Amino acid sequence: MEPILKVENLKTFFPVATSVFGKKKYLKAVNDVSFEVFENETFGLVGESGCGKSTLGRTIVKIYDPTEGKVWFKGKDIGTLKGEDLKKFRKEAQMIFQDPYASLNARMTVGEIIKEPMDIHGLYSSNKEKEEKASELLEIVGLKPDHIRRYPHEFSGGQRQRISIARTLALDPSFIVCDEPISALDVSIQAQIINLLEKIQAERNISYLFIAHDLGAVKHISKRIGAMYLGSLVEIGDSNELYHNPLHPYTKALLSAIPIPDPRVMRSRESVAIDGEIPSPLNVPSGCAFRTRCPMAMAKCAEDTPKLKKVGSSMVACHLYD
Ligand code: SF4
Repeated sequence: MEPILKVENLKTFFPVATSVFGKKKYLKAVNDVSFEVFENETFGLVGESGCGKSTLGRTIVKIYDPTEGKVWFKGKDIGTLKGEDLKKFRKEAQMIFQDPYASLNARMTVGEIIKEPMDIHGLYSSNKEKEEKASELLEIVGLKPDHIRRYPHEFSGGQRQRISIARTLALDPSFIVCDEPISALDVSIQAQIINLLEKIQAERNISYLFIAHDLGAVKHISKRIGAMYLGSLVEIGDSNELYHNPLHPYTKALLSAIPIPDPRVMRSRESVAIDGEIPSPLNVPSGCAFRTRCPMAMAKCAEDTPKLKKVGSSMVACHLYD
C-alpha cells in the first residue's frame, strides 16, 4: 500500500545568530526525520515540549519551508507544487491547533469562521450554500446549527475545539495534523474530542498526524507511534507494542511518567526516570542526543549517533540494540 504522506530525511533549522568567527548558528528543530502515514491511519507523535513535534507538523503542511529533505503527499513532492496543485494541497492537508482560544478570531461569528476557508478556496457559489454547509458541519462536530450566529467567547474550551474541527472539515481534507488538540482542555473533555476525531476519521477516511506530549493520549487514537527527542525520531512502533514493550530508554521514561490506577500494574512496570531538562536544540549533545539524560549511557553514546534500525517489529535508534 502506498502511503498518503512520506517524510524523507526532513530537516527544519532556524538561523538564530552568527558567532564572532562569522559562523551561523542554527536551531535544529527537526533533524533528519523520516516516516510514513497511510490512508485512514493515525500516526501518533509524542515527546516533551520543545522536542520539535509542532515544527515537524508545520513543515509538513508547508507553514515552514524545510532546510533539507522532502515531504511527499499522495506521491507528489510538496516542495515542487505550484499554482492549482499547491492550492489543492493546501485544501487537502489541514491543521488543528492546540489552543482553541487563540486559534479562533474573537470578532467573527462561528458561521463566518467556518465559511472563511470556503471563501479562500472558492467553494460553493452562494452564501446560502455556505451557511447550509457550516450548519451541517456544526452538527457533525456535536454542536447546534443555530450556533452559527454566536461568537467564540460564548463557548467552552471543548466547544471551541469542536468549532476548530468544523472549520478544518469545511475543506473536506484527507490529511490533518492535530497539533496537541486536547492539551489545553479539561481531562473530562479530552476523551470526547478524541472520540469525535475517531468518528470523523471513520466516516471521512481521513489520515491524522496526532501530536501530543502524553503517550497515554496518543496511544488511544494511534495505530503507530513515533517518539521524538531533540528533533529526531528515536523509536517508531505499533501503538500497542510501543506502549507495552518500549525499547528506547526515552520511550520507557515517557511511559513511566503515565500514572496507572492499578498498583499491581504500576509495580510490575519497568520504571525509567530521566533527570533534568531537555537540552537546547542550539547545542545538541554529540553522539546520541539523549545521552546527557540517559541512565544507560555508555562511552560509545558520546561518539556515534545511533541510527533508526529494526528491532523486533519496531524501529529504534539506540546503541543498546547494536
Ligand atoms: Fe542511552 Fe546510549 Fe541508547 Fe542513547 S544510545 S539512548 S545514550 S544507551
